[in-house]
Amino acid sequence: MKDVIIIGAGIAGLAAGFELHKNNIDFQILETQDRVGGSIETISKDGYLIDTGPQTFSSISKETFELIRNLNIEDSLEEANPSSKKRFVYLNNQLTPIPNGLMEFLKTELLSKDGKITILEDFVIKNIDKEESVEEFFTRRFGREVLKNIIQPFLNGVYAGDVKKLSANAVFPKLKELEEKYNSVLLGFILSQMFSNSFKKLTLCSLKEGMECLTKTLYEKLKNKITLNTQNIEISRAKDFYIVTFKNNNKTINYTTNAILFATPTHKLLDFNYLLPDIYVTDYFNIEYEPISVVVQSINKSKLKDPLNGFGYLCTKEPHRKLLGTIWTSSVFPQRAPQDKILLTSYIGGAHYRKITELSEEEISNLVSKEIAEILQIQDQSSIETIHIKTHHHAIPQYNLGHTEKVKRIEDLMNTNAGLFFTGNYLYGVSINDTIKTSKRITKKIVNFLHESKTSQNNSTENKLEPTYSVFTQVALAVTLLLRATFA
Ligand SMILES: Cc1cc2nc3c(=O)[nH]c(=O)nc-3n(C[C@H](O)[C@H](O)[C@H](O)COP(=O)(O)OP(=O)(O)OC[C@H]3O[C@@H](n4cnc5c(N)ncnc54)[C@H](O)[C@@H]3O)c2cc1C
Repeated sequence: MKDVIIIGAGIAGLAAGFELHKNNIDFQILETQDRVGGSIETISKDGYLIDTGPQTFSSISKETFELIRNLNIEDSLEEANPSSKKRFVYLNNQLTPIPNGLMEFLKTELLSKDGKITILEDFVIKNIDKEESVEEFFTRRFGREVLKNIIQPFLNGVYAGDVKKLSANAVFPKLKELEEKYNSVLLGFILSQMFSNSFKKLTLCSLKEGMECLTKTLYEKLKNKITLNTQNIEISRAKDFYIVTFKNNNKTINYTTNAILFATPTHKLLDFNYLLPDIYVTDYFNIEYEPISVVVQSINKSKLKDPLNGFGYLCTKEPHRKLLGTIWTSSVFPQRAPQDKILLTSYIGGAHYRKITELSEEEISNLVSKEIAEILQIQDQSSIETIHIKTHHHAIPQYNLGHTEKVKRIEDLMNTNAGLFFTGNYLYGVSINDTIKTSKRITKKIVNFLHESKTSQNNSTENKLEPTYSVFTQVALAVTLLLRATFA
């Protein structure tokens, strides 16, 4: 009898497995693919080191750092080139720097004079005690320009979503909390920063061998606890345990287990709908995912007027602009490309341009090259060489209106002592940091559950999860920091 069967070996499943391993709990991870890592993948091609999914930890969290240290790959951590602090928004046909500090903020062309003054209204605007979309929240508190020129581009880079549909409560829980507590997001932010002693280890970073070094090392550590290439997983419930049956290399394998931890995206949970109450299938686990194509390209340094010092740019939503943004990968991590080349990683698709991700690779490549040539003022579009394209059809879960309620209901299901648990980036933040943190918390719940079932105490204690704050929320907080600088 296993204690836990984990379904899915992305970072969520692997991080949970590692926690269970530390707690001496017997588990097995089942993964359909022939590799672990899910959307985390690094490839080497033509002298380039390419991450086809996530590129960076925006700032490494305590939990991620702990995991990396426990895996003995601390030396692999690679901090971004200091110049990547410079970030741009492509606005009105030019790359406009995101201000760092008060003087730059006062001069920034991201906001007009009126736009800057409108921000001050945050100090006097009344709270609204209801769920709001990101569009409603930012327009109400900071004005339309902040939404259009700052928040929308940032969310393009994180969710590739629609500000009309994304829930401010789910995407920016910290800002909503500050609003509620201090009647002003800015005032709350200033006060909370004054008393903050948060973990600050590394800011923007990655791993020297690419992000997949993390999941590959987890695989090496947990190898005999992971079964790859599993097919036709079926789960049936006995009185107080589960029987899991699946095919592996044409053999049928059975496990009995006390608990199941689902670490798959929510659309994959539908394969197990017979285990879930109907409302969970039709509603609570019914979470939209937007598709994204990641387009990796290179260009000779000699073809560019500008050396591209910085992280890259995000695009505002314009009718003619399909690109979500581009990371200047070789500026951020110079070892990833031959010395005479620039490596660019662009993102296209998302809520507004889903159909683009269904085009042929050649069409996607042409579209991206055309826009990049325009943005970076490259005369000859054919000098941009496409090295790799990867389309993630279910890239990022959308924390749309109603999301917080869905998460509460999923918590309720986990608290019923049925031995069913869930982890993944659809719960408490979409970043790798948040996913690792989520898995760590859910693992604690599983350890409690196993302990309680072993001591036959079925009146389990409620271990309600506190929402954690997305690393990407920190981006928003950083934006707020800029605003704060104005009033410091
Ligand atoms: C293009 C892109 C860029 C990103 N950029 C960043 C970034 O720069 N920084 C950052 O922090 N985050 C980023 N993210 C987010 C981050 O990568 C993800 O949130 C995180 O990797 C999700 O991990 P997961 O384990 O929840 O899901 P997944 O990675 O999707 O893993 C799920 C696993 O479950 C397996 N599975 C599915 N169904 C079954 C089944 N029936 N049986 C068994 N196994 C199954 C899958 O094969 C997969 O291996 C990005 C994501 C994408 C797509």
